[in-house]
Amino acid sequence: MRIVLLGAPGAGKGTHCKRIERQYSLVHLASGDILRQERAADTELGKKAQRYMDSGALVPDELIVEMMTEVIKKIPENGSFVLDGFPRTVNQADEFDKSLASAGQKIDIVLNLKIDDRITVERLTGRRSCPECGAVYHIENLKPKVEGICDNDGTKLIQRPDDNPEVVANRLRTYHEQTEPVVDYYRKNNTVYDIDAGKDADEVIALLFEKLDALAKA
Ligand code: ADP
Ligand code: AMP
Repeated sequence: MRIVLLGAPGAGKGTHCKRIERQYSLVHLASGDILRQERAADTELGKKAQRYMDSGALVPDELIVEMMTEVIKKIPENGSFVLDGFPRTVNQADEFDKSLASAGQKIDIVLNLKIDDRITVERLTGRRSCPECGAVYHIENLKPKVEGICDNDGTKLIQRPDDNPEVVANRLRTYHEQTEPVVDYYRKNNTVYDIDAGKDADEVIALLFEKLDALAKA
């Protein structure tokens, strides 16, 4: 299965992708996580991406498309993946479709997490992440067993520097201006399912599994 999970920052893409990855044994590819790894390793790409990420703007399309095409190439042929945070512009979606088509592939399903901006602000400012395994928690909604510590590996949780209210406001503006049109782009040629991501996390994942189970059986 080749899955694209769309949604505003804070909609729950990373949270649900981790569950999808386990349930269907596929690869979770999060462009934001890959960029943060590039930054941590102090690569040329990481250095170029830094100022965009810090301000809540998008990293230029040509850098992102190249990065994601390289990562996807490494997945064995006909391998399954779920994309999180990519594509984020119509141009990225179009370039990516062309590169899949040239390999005789296409996206099988697009899942669109719909959420109100007010909720995403609460979610992002309360988010805590594991720098080691990428697990995501929330200080109120999805707490770790021990406060401030990752359940999986005992690492101290961190707050992402771009999860502060000022940068969150920029990221939401960027989402509405540049990423929302990607949903309509996919509606033209793909099956897009809208999911109410404001519900409880277990209810959201049940809706996502329902759609993916139907696709797997088809
Ligand atoms: P995204 O990857 O879309 O930016 P995340 O998956 O990191 O979003 O989720 C953002 C924050 O919201 C995290 O702190 C996460 O624990 C919390 N969260 C995700 N989904 C839900 C939900 N359905 N209900 C409550 N909190 C949620
Ligand atoms: P995320 O982890 O998805 O919230 O992404 C964090 C930041 O990485 C974003 O605010 C952007 O600056 C950058 N980023 C991640 N994915 C993309 C993408 N597909 N296109 C451009 N910039 C991206």
